Amino acid sequence: MTILYLVIPCYNEEEVLPETTRRLGEKFDSLLQSQMISPESRILLVDDGSRDHTWPIIEALHRQDPRFGGVKLSRNKGHQNALLAGLTVANGHCDAVISLDADLQDDINAIDRMVERFQEGYEVVYGVRSSRATDTAFKRGTAGAFYKLMRMLGVEIVDNHADYRLLSKRALAALLEFQEVNLFLRGIVPLIGFRSTVVPYERAERFAGESKYPLKKMLLFAFDGITSFSIRPIRLVTLLGALIFGGSLLGLFALLIQKLFGQTVQGWTTLMGSIWMLGGIQLLCLGIIGEYIGRIYQETKHRPRFIIDQIRLDETNG
Ligand code: UDP
Ligand code: MG
Repeated sequence: MTILYLVIPCYNEEEVLPETTRRLGEKFDSLLQSQMISPESRILLVDDGSRDHTWPIIEALHRQDPRFGGVKLSRNKGHQNALLAGLTVANGHCDAVISLDADLQDDINAIDRMVERFQEGYEVVYGVRSSRATDTAFKRGTAGAFYKLMRMLGVEIVDNHADYRLLSKRALAALLEFQEVNLFLRGIVPLIGFRSTVVPYERAERFAGESKYPLKKMLLFAFDGITSFSIRPIRLVTLLGALIFGGSLLGLFALLIQKLFGQTVQGWTTLMGSIWMLGGIQLLCLGIIGEYIGRIYQETKHRPRFIIDQIRLDETNG
């Protein structure tokens, strides 16, 4: 039987945790009854440095019910790092791990199908949203544009897949080999390889509390995704430079010919225009290159991606 770990990052989720853990507990029992998972399976909640009662709730839950485990990070490190911390703790204890969000927007009934696929021999099972009906038009539009842009930049990414996925023991160990500090898990997972498949599900609305992903965090996340997986923006800068250089050579040639035929040019507008335009393009390109250098700087420091404060986990069969 499969030892399954569910890993759930939680940041200020006191409003959703009681209901979430009740629903997950039910799901856990039904999987246990149908003998799909072993009793050594666990639900691992990662407290990402919450400022509310998230950790006391997790601790109390663990005390009453050994099916639940907890990991407390020393401070808020963001969704991806919190998830990675949970996966790191789960590594070595389980046959398969499923990551999902604390608000249960991802339909937990897809867990059954994910585990089935795993038992059929798939090592990576992506949860893919079959529709975005519950999203605002804005989120739908921006998400669609983002996936399109990523693909244009040559990044392999599974459409409409967030961080709801199953990883086998081997796939999990492979994922943990990736040492990057600018974490964009949904870009890394396809790089692992192994046999993979997709399980579609309907995404619900958050049933309580509010999104912990404001627009600013979302944009930063998207930016991380692009710069961690594609150097095409830098190539575009090179191409732009080459084009402008070529253009200016042609322009110079034209001016020389005009001069030979004795036509003097007024040219103030063109002059000013080109100064400003070229200056702008140069700054933009420096900025793009600077973004990459900044990331190289961050990566070379190899700072820890998370620091664990406490772990609550009973490994013996509860
Ligand atoms: N989350 C986290 N750390 C953060 C922000 C979010 O662990 O700094 C968790 C959050 O508790 C939730 C998941 O990441 O379990 C997804 O966040 P949310 O549901 O707010 O994002 P949305 O669904 O709105 O994109
Ligand atoms: Mg959510």
